[in-house]
Amino acid sequence: MARLTVLTVPDARLRVKAKPVSVVDDMIKSILNDMVETMHAEDGIGLAAPQVGISLRLIVISLDGETIYKMVNPEIIWRSNEESTCNEGCLSVPEQNAEIKRPKAIKMTYLDENGVKQSIESDDLLATCIQHEIDHLNGKLYIDYLSSLKRQLYINKVKRLKRYEEG
Ligand SMILES: [Zn+2]
Repeated sequence: MARLTVLTVPDARLRVKAKPVSVVDDMIKSILNDMVETMHAEDGIGLAAPQVGISLRLIVISLDGETIYKMVNPEIIWRSNEESTCNEGCLSVPEQNAEIKRPKAIKMTYLDENGVKQSIESDDLLATCIQHEIDHLNGKLYIDYLSSLKRQLYINKVKRLKRYEEG
């Protein structure tokens, strides 16, 4: 396994719509494992392939560090009208967070790392996290739900943070 570099805003690669995976082969399994290692190393609870510069529809999620979801071609097939608000953060927008309102419950399908179709219904943090990660596959970030002024503020903060890190 290898730790991958997480891209941060305003990297243009975060804005590209990712392509579906045609076959879940050893290469895909290897990418998923590298994504899990990277997510854990960065103390994240979810990571989407575009965040590490790979334009494929792959996401990994682990809310408790133990149960790990590796999802290929995830798709939301139902969203509740009821919404909930969650304080979201993102490894691609480091050290920032914001209250984001999304559908509270979802039903979704995906292929697991063996290429077997799975489905999940969730109405808690997992539902929020899945929606956040699938947004990444469509080139969308949680800061897009904020006003353009606030979004630009966040991007500028991350730019300053990165300049500081790079010395
Ligand atoms: Zn994110």
